[in-house]
This record gives sequence, C-alpha cells and structure tokens, in this order.
Amino acid sequence: MSDMIRLLPETVANQIAAGEVIQRPASALKELVENAVDAGSTKIEVFIKDSGKSSIHIIDNGCGMSPTDARLSFSRHATSKIRTAEDLFSIRTKGFRGEALASVAAVAQVEIKTRRHEDETGTLLQVDGNVFKLQEPVSTAPGTSILVRNLFFNIPARRNFLKSDSIEARHIIDEFERIALAHPEVSFHLNQNGVEIFKLPVSNLRQRIVNVNGANYNERLVPVHEETSLLTISGFVGKPEFSKKTRGEQFLFVNKRYIKDGYLNHAVTNAFEELLSKDSYASYWLYIDIDPSRIDVNIHPTKTEIKFEDERSVYAIVRASVKRSLGQYNVSPALDFDREPTFDVPHAMRFKAVNKPMVTVNTDYNPFKSSTPLASAGWEKMYDRLQEVEVKSHESPATLPLPEVPEKQEYTTLFQLQGFIIGKKQETLLIIDATAAHERILYDRFLLKEEMPLPQHDLFPQTLNFSAGDFHLIQEMEEDLRSMGFDMKVFGVNTYVLQATPSGMMTGNAVQLIERMLEQFKNNASNYSTGKRELLARALSKSMAIKKGSQLSTDEMLAIVNEIEKSEKGKTGIDGKRCAIYLKASELSEFLKGSI
Ligand code: ADP
Ligand code: MG
Repeated sequence: MSDMIRLLPETVANQIAAGEVIQRPASALKELVENAVDAGSTKIEVFIKDSGKSSIHIIDNGCGMSPTDARLSFSRHATSKIRTAEDLFSIRTKGFRGEALASVAAVAQVEIKTRRHEDETGTLLQVDGNVFKLQEPVSTAPGTSILVRNLFFNIPARRNFLKSDSIEARHIIDEFERIALAHPEVSFHLNQNGVEIFKLPVSNLRQRIVNVNGANYNERLVPVHEETSLLTISGFVGKPEFSKKTRGEQFLFVNKRYIKDGYLNHAVTNAFEELLSKDSYASYWLYIDIDPSRIDVNIHPTKTEIKFEDERSVYAIVRASVKRSLGQYNVSPALDFDREPTFDVPHAMRFKAVNKPMVTVNTDYNPFKSSTPLASAGWEKMYDRLQEVEVKSHESPATLPLPEVPEKQEYTTLFQLQGFIIGKKQETLLIIDATAAHERILYDRFLLKEEMPLPQHDLFPQTLNFSAGDFHLIQEMEEDLRSMGFDMKVFGVNTYVLQATPSGMMTGNAVQLIERMLEQFKNNASNYSTGKRELLARALSKSMAIKKGSQLSTDEMLAIVNEIEKSEKGKTGIDGKRCAIYLKASELSEFLKGSI
C-alpha cells in the first residue's frame, strides 16, 4: 500500500488556522482594531457594512508599514512584536502571534493602503483569499487603511453559519467596546451603513465609560484604585443599586487586554457580598496592570484568557480593593445604615410590617361594591397598579387591580407565603408562583390576544440617552415598542424622545421598563431562537409582572388565581417551568410519598 500522509496545500492550512482566530466579522474587527492600537494610533475609524458581512474598513493614523513590511504582514507568523521566545514574557502589545492578517486574508478580499510617517508615498496591496493580486505605490495619508470585503467568500459553509445582522452587529459592538474601554487615550469612531454608532473622543477613563454607556453612568461609578508590589488595579465598579440583571457590564482588563476570568469575576462579586440581590450582577470596569512576566497570555488563540503566576494573590487584591472602594464611598451598609441591600423590593414595603401571612377570604365579599370598580376597569388598568408597585416612593403596599373577579367566591382560603399564593378550592389545594404566573398572564395578553395598550401622550416628553450599542438595539425594537404603546423618536446622537407611553403607565416607569426590556432583550437574543415579537412580549411581561416577594392583597391573589385557571398554558411559566400546581385532597397521600 502506498503512503497516505500528505502535507495540506498552504491555502487549506491557512483556512483551517484562520478558523481559530476568525469566527465571525467581529473577530476580524477585533484583530484589525488591535493592530491599529498596537501601531500607536491616536485615532481609529471603523466603517462596517451589513454587520461586517459585506465589509469592514479600518483607518488608523498609526506608524504605517514599509512596502516590504506590508507584503510580509500577510504571511503567517509574521510579526514585528516579538523576536525571541523570551519576548513572550514581556508582551505589552495586543498581537504577537503574527496570525491575524494571514488569517483574515485567507478568508476574505483584503485591500490595504499604508504609509509610514517618514515616507512620501504609501503602498497599496490587494489580497484575495491569500493570493496576492496587486502591489503598487499609492498616495495615502500616514497610517494604515485596511478594507476587508466579503468575509468567508471562499468558505460558504462558514458564511452560512453567521447569525442575523443584528446578532453579528451586537458582537461587533461588544468587541469594539472592549477595545475602546481599554484605550481612552485613543479616539474611536464606529459607523455602520453610514450611521454613526460610536464617536469617542480622547478622554479620561471615567469619561470614556460614560461616552460608551450614556450620560447617566457618571453617577453610577465608584472609583477603585490600589497599588501593590504585585500589581496595580484601577477603574470603577457600579454602585450596587444600578446593578444589572445580565452579566453585560463586567469588564476586566489585564495590561489593557480584555479578558474573561471566572475566578476574578468571583472575587469582584464576592466583594459586593450582600449588597447585590440574588438575581443581579455587579457592574465593573477594572484594569489590572501587572509585570507581563507574571502572566501567560499565550494560552488561547484569541487571547481572551490568560494565566496568572500567582492567581490567589491577584484574587485577594481584587476582592480587597473593590470592597474597600465600596466601603469608602458609603455604599456599603456597614457604613451607611440607611441603605437597603434588597433592591428589588419596592421601597415603601421595606419599612412596612409584614402582613399576617394567612388571609381567610370572606365568602360574602363582593368586589363590585368596592369604591373602585376594578372589574369593569379592564385589564389595562393593571398598568395603573403595576406602576404603583414599581414606583419606589410609593407610600402604601401596592395593590393589583382585578381584571375579573367572579361574584361568587370559589376559594375559601387564599394566602401568600413569600412569593407563592396558596389556595384551597373545594377539595383542591393550589400553589402558584405569583411572579411567574403573572408573567404568563401578561404574556398571553400581549402575544396571544394581541391586547396591546394604547399610546397615551405625555405632557412632558422625556429624553432617553442610550449607549451607542443600546441605541442600535432600540432602533431595531422601535416598531414593536410602538405597537405596545410606546411612541418614540430619534432625537440627536444616541438619544430618543419618548412622546407617548402605554396607557395607564407613568413616564418614569415606562423609561425604567424600556431599560429593563433592553436588558431582557439582550439576555434573550442569544438564549431564545424565538421571533422578535415574542421576545418583546416576554420582556414586557417580565418587566411588568409583580416583583418576587411583593406583598399581594387578597383581590390581587384572586385575580392571578382566576386568570391562571383560565389560561391554556396557565400551569407553565413563560420560561417553561411549572408555575402552578393543583393537588386534589385524594392525591395528597401520593404527593407525600413523593410519587407526584
Ligand atoms: P501580530 O499583530 O500578532 O503581530 P498580525 O497578523 O495582526 O500579527 O499583524 C502582522 C504585522 O503587521 C504586525 O506585527 C505589524 O507589524 C503589522 N501591522 C498590522 N496591522 C498594522 C497597522 N494597522 N499598522 C501598522 N502595522 C500593522
Ligand atoms: Mg495583530
């Protein structure tokens, strides 16, 4: 038998290698912007078309390349950043593997124009899938312009794997933000299909964070700074009351390189301790500066993971410095007794005596006799009450309006046990997760019955500032938001004006709701493969449902219990988990044996 092993042709080898570094437009963008940073640029402009699928164009004013270097830069393992193995332990640049340009060029059509500041003319180079097409002198500004078109044009399978434009755009924005947050000393622009997404001038770090996230972030930041013999840590943590429901705002940089590190993330979270409620995440922008010989960045092709020589000490320092900052700035309850760590409970309820947990329903009770004729108020009135639950300064424990309360009570016992409603109806015991059930009720209305609230024009339109990334998402959600009763218009850079809110809802709450919906939307965009409308209905329901542990009145409990019974999917929450259980007395012994 003849020998079977063959060396792969270079183009195939390059494509395989490229797969490790370039998975999607955002990874190409990351590598190219990092090269621009490494080149010492003070201004970097990025133009993308169709989420980078059609083109990514990056213009920098960095050092540029000589004609020979320009040609060489496309070879695998061609780098100006290290020379020997020892250099691996003193890396301060983003790149050092010499793979990025070769990888990008293996899977796209690339045109580069580059000129060193000291040269009169520059070089134009065209490469298609690693094949050199053209090299000639060109007149161009000092620095480098690199245009990458039709990513994966020669690997259709990969191209087909790309996600929708909005998801790819999200990845691009994520990568862009990470680099921009690491380098406030560089001005960055990002422009997609002619629309400016980011315009970030040179600034200090606080200002950069604010420019990326929106003006309202200034008041949210608590500075962190600690210098030790091992490392220096600086940056900001978000005040706990602004913590998010998603992990989105957790940034850790080591020597200006964005990294993912579960262990150190734990250090930060741990420093927050009981300042955070269970389902929220600390926000942080932390920058560690450490002697490069004490870390290994060479363990991951995209370099987002690194190894510390002394992981435990780093953990201890991170934890201690965050804790100290939180304490110093009076956010820690140890120093500020007025602050309440459980942020999810409406403010007013925190100081109320907890209601007697057991309520026995008066069977003669007639809800129609009550001073507010809730039954006729219609479901949208729920908003009225819901928003009361949300307004933090609300004075008395909020009550939910009742969409429909049957005149004859079928429930003889109904009470609340923490987040659960417990009831008895004839021979049946029921247990309902109040929040999940309420989410289900709202969701059914929004999605199935299409009972959307009508817009109600506000006397005082409200301006909403978004981060560039969020602004982009909001633009996509705009139409659906409108159908839900929000009326909003673009009003300057990254700003909207909110002219109408869903009827029965206060503007302040609507703003809060939009912010939460955005977060939900971001959370769900990757979790669910469902349609956008469904996502919005889900987000709206989640934002509007009563919060976990809210104190409910008997009428509110009844409203939920009745609606859930009527709903086709009433027993299942919108996350697919069971939210109601009905147990007949005859089934209880089985239940206790564990067979139900
Ligand atoms: P690495 O960044 O790991 O060195 P790359 O393949 O990304 O490898 O780039 C190869 C080389 O091309 C770099 O080392 C650098 O010398 C040069 N280069 C790439 N992009 C630029 C740029 N925007 N400006 C100046 N030089 C660049
Ligand atoms: Mg590079």
